[in-house]
Amino acid sequence: DTAALKQLDRAHHLHPFTDLHAYAEQGGRIVNRAEHIYIHDTDGNTMLDGMSGLWCCNLGYSQKQIVEAVYRQLQELPYYNNFFKCSNQPAVELATMLSEVTPGQFKHVFFTNSGSEANDTNIRLVHRYYDLLGKPEKKLIISRKNAYHGSTIAAGSLGGMAPMHKQVIGLDYIHHINQPHWFENGGDMSPEDYGVQVARELEAKIDELGEDKVAAFIAEPVQGAGGVIIPPSTYWPEVQRICDERDILLIADEVICGFGRTGKWWGSETYGMKPHLMTFAKAVTNGYMPLGGVMVGDKVADVLLAGGGEFAHGLTYSGHPAACAAGIATLNVLKETNIIETSATEVAPHFQRRLREFESHPVVGQVRGQGMFAAVELVKDKGSRERLAPESAGAVFCRDSANKNGLMVRQTGDAMIMAPPLVCSTGEIDILIEKLGIALDETAAHYGV
Ligand code: PLP
Repeated sequence: DTAALKQLDRAHHLHPFTDLHAYAEQGGRIVNRAEHIYIHDTDGNTMLDGMSGLWCCNLGYSQKQIVEAVYRQLQELPYYNNFFKCSNQPAVELATMLSEVTPGQFKHVFFTNSGSEANDTNIRLVHRYYDLLGKPEKKLIISRKNAYHGSTIAAGSLGGMAPMHKQVIGLDYIHHINQPHWFENGGDMSPEDYGVQVARELEAKIDELGEDKVAAFIAEPVQGAGGVIIPPSTYWPEVQRICDERDILLIADEVICGFGRTGKWWGSETYGMKPHLMTFAKAVTNGYMPLGGVMVGDKVADVLLAGGGEFAHGLTYSGHPAACAAGIATLNVLKETNIIETSATEVAPHFQRRLREFESHPVVGQVRGQGMFAAVELVKDKGSRERLAPESAGAVFCRDSANKNGLMVRQTGDAMIMAPPLVCSTGEIDILIEKLGIALDETAAHYGV
């Protein structure tokens, strides 16, 4: 009974990143079924999922191989821990497979349940690394404004979103610099000059805090939840130069970018980054089981393995056999179907090309994207980049309009955000474009643009 279920949802279920008061009053939809790239709700609506769930179901919803692998594993060994000098076969196999699909220097992995915990783990690893090197004063981490790195206290402190920081008292060893958002802040500068200028804020921050105190810089190759901020081509090479020259560890948060989102296995590869640590989660199991982790590069791993004493960090479910079985099956599907390359060469170019048709739409200020990852920035005035409505109301209207027309997209600030499953066909991309076009037209009509 849909009405009863919705009533119980409003009465008992506190939803993440939700206005709890409004939800308790109004409720939402109950999603009860999904296949391929479509989700269904108990009111009989079918929606094309332009967000791959929450950037995780890169292979869509019909991957039986993953479901069966989890079922088999639960029957054989549903759980055992990895603490008591014990391991389990799926954890070993997945660790090995991950080391094969990451750049050469990554041979070790620490498993968590989520991206947030993985980013906490990064801090633990970095601090342990410098302690073992005899440099315990190197504790400071530099991150970026508008970043999202998760919701635990440490990951929330790493993140740089102002509304979240109003509710999280950030850890004092974490500092923030600007993100390379050319459309928002670049003014009259070329994207290339702007990219170098923002990257050099890292150098200035290291000078301000002291090179002997700064341990690491963490960033997403492309800021996702912050609005799919595609960095200017000059940004990452300059950041890399600074990290190398100043001996700062570089942490790439690949929680969204990993597993094909930007057209290669890792966002770091797309942008030529050479990180020492990489966070993953989400698409590692295609979103079917909770799993995250940190890929630990040789520079850090060599010190951890050489140093004596316990690494006092871990989670009951680190290397959970059923979650790892889902990860193995997901990696097998990715490899067997060659979907990362197919989507990068056939579907993503079509997606990006079709999206750019909206550049002439009256409410569109910028279309940006890479691979199966994109944002459409809404404006009232293309020349001045004046926003459509205060407090992102224009983009909220547009998102609601898209949802009403059967397209699941997300709104961040004034941008419409899209990350469709890699298994989309070009025909399905055309359907997404058509639905987005209707939402943009309705938005333009509503605001009289
Ligand atoms: N890092 C990034 C880049 C993310 O986008 C997210 C979640 O959206 C996280 C970390 C946190 O992951 P989780 O929600 O699994 O804790």
